[in-house]
Amino acid sequence: MLTGQQYKDSLRDGRATYFEGERIDDLPAHPLLGQTVDYTAETYDKFYDPAPDAVSPLLAVPRSADDLRALLPLLNEAGMMAHVTSSSIQTLKTVAGRMTDVKPEYLERMQIYIEESQKSDIRITQCITDAKGNRSKSPGAQDDPDAYVRVVSRQRDGIVIRGAKLHITGASFGHDLMTIPTKSMKPGEEDYSVACMVPVNAEGVRIINTTYAPRHEDARTFPISGKYHYPEGFVIFDDVFVPHERVFLDGETSYAAVFAHSLGLWERLGGLSEFVSEADHLVGFAQLVAEANGTAGISHIKEKISEMMIQATLIRASLEAAISNCSIGPDGAAFPNELFVNAGKFYGAANYNTMVRHLHDIAGGAVLTAPAPADFENEEVGDLARKYMSTGNDVDGEYRSKLMYAIRDLTADSYGGWKAVTNLQAGGGLYAQRIVTRRHYDLDEAKRGALAIAGLSEHDAP
Ligand SMILES: Cc1cc2nc3c(=O)[nH]c(=O)nc-3n(C[C@H](O)[C@H](O)[C@H](O)COP(=O)(O)OP(=O)(O)OC[C@H]3O[C@@H](n4cnc5c(N)ncnc54)[C@H](O)[C@@H]3O)c2cc1C
Repeated sequence: MLTGQQYKDSLRDGRATYFEGERIDDLPAHPLLGQTVDYTAETYDKFYDPAPDAVSPLLAVPRSADDLRALLPLLNEAGMMAHVTSSSIQTLKTVAGRMTDVKPEYLERMQIYIEESQKSDIRITQCITDAKGNRSKSPGAQDDPDAYVRVVSRQRDGIVIRGAKLHITGASFGHDLMTIPTKSMKPGEEDYSVACMVPVNAEGVRIINTTYAPRHEDARTFPISGKYHYPEGFVIFDDVFVPHERVFLDGETSYAAVFAHSLGLWERLGGLSEFVSEADHLVGFAQLVAEANGTAGISHIKEKISEMMIQATLIRASLEAAISNCSIGPDGAAFPNELFVNAGKFYGAANYNTMVRHLHDIAGGAVLTAPAPADFENEEVGDLARKYMSTGNDVDGEYRSKLMYAIRDLTADSYGGWKAVTNLQAGGGLYAQRIVTRRHYDLDEAKRGALAIAGLSEHDAP
């Protein structure tokens, strides 16, 4: 396994990564992006085991509902880079179980890759979303043939790919880019049916980073996003050579969607598990700010918080249902239940903004205008800020202000805006979750039940 320092050193590998117009040659030393490196390194140290054959529990393949239940809190503790790596490994496991009549070497390569990545304790990010061009046109019908990542040449020992994958979480902070088709492909789209593992420092890979990381000098004004932020990468494959042993699909259109569907399952499971704690945080802030404002006993405030509790509880229930109803694949790996994962992820994403709306409604305008922590240290206005932010003898004005700053950071500033969009889009958007829910919901059984209580038989229905 890698120590935090070894992880940091491993990023100094010549990768071509950019931020706001400049190439970053030393990622760990960058004042803003280096913060992401630092706490990813901390999680390496936290889970480090010096035994020569140790495998990080973060990269293990779950084999039962209990394993799944135990893995998710570990991943939440270890942060985004662990999340995306784990779901990449689980995706390959899932894909291998679903690809039945393909070249056996694809399956062998995936298995070897999983074992090697576990041994070397690397971090893998997920490159699925293409630039996509005109959304109404298929990959082969785009004005620019590179709108979807494709194979531009096949050589004796590997393939060359070109295209771009956008919005890739943590792309510059991992070691490999799991590059897979974003959708199903049709005959004629063989070149777009490509799945492979590309090292971040491969020649021709360029990554442009974007981040919501706060730029304020005083990190106290961003108590949440000031601690953890994970830049997204705009990943460009400018004719990148990939050796055969890292290619898991090349040309088999009928299997292009298997990768996206398998990743969707694990990505949404991760999203759902994050919603569970996020929803509880929103409830917690709503209650705390109501108490600080002196409104906790007012009926409409209690009703809003009760509604938030119901949403938080249903999100938790769908995660538990997804785990308890997991299935076990042919080689013993456990897969969460598709229906509960997708319905739960949809429910959490669709209701997140309603929960935030209630929180803002309860908290009041001080979410945006409370004096900053540093103002409380000013000799001239500090005590006055404390006096007028207080709502009574038992509510310290500075405490109430800090509460407002946390709510602002989480829901109403750069990170809050990022979250509002991310919750909807990451993991494939609400539309994708509706489709998968529909595919796995037992509609026939629902129809039979409806006919039965209507006193009709299946023969009466068209
Ligand atoms: C912060 C963040 C992190 C992300 N991390 C990753 C990551 O790590 N890896 C990764 O691969 N992706 C990642 N994504 C990308 C995410 O999966 C996509 O944003 C999402 O799938 C939507 O794709 P899009 O952004 O291209 O929007 P679009 O595809 O343009 O979608 C916009 C809307 O148009 C609809 N639409 C588009 N095309 C069609 C169509 N043909 N028919 C019907 N409706 C259509 C969609 O349903 C949606 O409602 C991330 C996104 C965000 C915001």
